[in-house]
Amino acid sequence: MKIMKFGGTSVGRPERMHQVKDLITRGDEPTIVVLSALSGTTNALVGIGEALAAGDKSLAKERIDTLHAHYLAFYPALVQTAEARAKAEEIIKEHFEFLNILLKISFNEAINRDILAQGELLSTKLFFTLLGELQIPAVFLPALDFMSIDENSEPELPKISEKLKAILAQHPKERLFITQGYICKNHRNEVDNLKRGGSDYTASLVAAAINASVCEIWTDIDGMHNNDPRVVDRTRPIAEMSFDEAAELAYFGAKILHPASIWPAQLYNVPVKLLNTMEPTAHGTLIKAEVETTGVKAIAAKDGITAIKIKSSRMLLAYGFLRRIFEVFEKYKTPIDMITTSEVAVSVTIDDLSHLEQIQAELESFGTVEIDRNQAIICVVGNKVAETKGAVQSVLDSLINIPVRMVSFGGSKHNVSILVDAQYKTQALKSLNEGVFTW
Ligand code: ASP
Ligand code: MG
Repeated sequence: MKIMKFGGTSVGRPERMHQVKDLITRGDEPTIVVLSALSGTTNALVGIGEALAAGDKSLAKERIDTLHAHYLAFYPALVQTAEARAKAEEIIKEHFEFLNILLKISFNEAINRDILAQGELLSTKLFFTLLGELQIPAVFLPALDFMSIDENSEPELPKISEKLKAILAQHPKERLFITQGYICKNHRNEVDNLKRGGSDYTASLVAAAINASVCEIWTDIDGMHNNDPRVVDRTRPIAEMSFDEAAELAYFGAKILHPASIWPAQLYNVPVKLLNTMEPTAHGTLIKAEVETTGVKAIAAKDGITAIKIKSSRMLLAYGFLRRIFEVFEKYKTPIDMITTSEVAVSVTIDDLSHLEQIQAELESFGTVEIDRNQAIICVVGNKVAETKGAVQSVLDSLINIPVRMVSFGGSKHNVSILVDAQYKTQALKSLNEGVFTW
């Protein structure tokens, strides 16, 4: 069985949904299709939730009506027969009635998550209606019946696998299954989600859960690029990368893939393909366990980074110092991205500033603390880049005119991370582009 996941832009217009229908009916391998919400819908739902949270019901109503109008304009171009149109109307009516009811009751976080779930419910039901009209046999697979997260919001892969396999076993002859990305149940059995962009994560979890042959992620670009196309002029799609390379890159700016979606596929060794709905025959990017290539493969950057330096003579020859520092970050559930140390100082970077003040206050009991905001991590990734002769040198040579705040090398064989002030990000990406790739 294979997984095909389509993102918001791939289902965002009626004609795109028709294209998706063509793509999922081409091959003969049984397929689970994972759909995102139509592009723009989740943002709109977030906006509705925010208006309700702020107690502004008239704004919420206005936003619900705008979204409703979007769907009322969408379905007539999607399906043609009176029967299918009536079905689509019914689906839209049901979901917007639900949203309108929320205007009358008191708002809470569980309701907000229910609101956020409407996008994927609508997209899959409308798509299923299209398949019905075209008499394409398919099974509707509600994600809320099998996707679950635990009390730490971590997906429960063994449970997901067990439930999903049991459901699939009830349909031994069917070849096409349609399910929602992003949404799930939490440990309180409420509707929840896998965070923004989480449909990729769903696809990867489903792929792992059934040990799929491949997990295809269909988006609107031709795979992962070797540099940020928004910043540098010349980039190219990467044909093949390893899970390790992809994991390093997905976190950094390369917005094409949700960072958490690598591990489930990697754990069960399911290859992931990044493909382009607009150009279905393009090669895209294949992510798998082993690749032959070595040297720098891609560069990505992440903004909004804050560097924290803790300097203390007590660190000299002491043990347990790092543990005490890390405990502070753990206490405030703040992940650390980069670390560098010297004999008397430690620098770390974070991107979640919610508890910066408390963290700073506690760290000050260990020594002097310096904080540099507005930094950017430049991440250079390549299979065994650390062992490739000249690779690291070419990275540093390219940055000769840029003040470097931190360098992290040797944490993995596949990555060199460099911290620069955000004002140098563009220059760094451009210089590296010319300095480390052969074009
Ligand atoms: N619809 C959700 C979002 O926009 C999930 C996804 O599309 O991956 O974040
Ligand atoms: Mg996405």
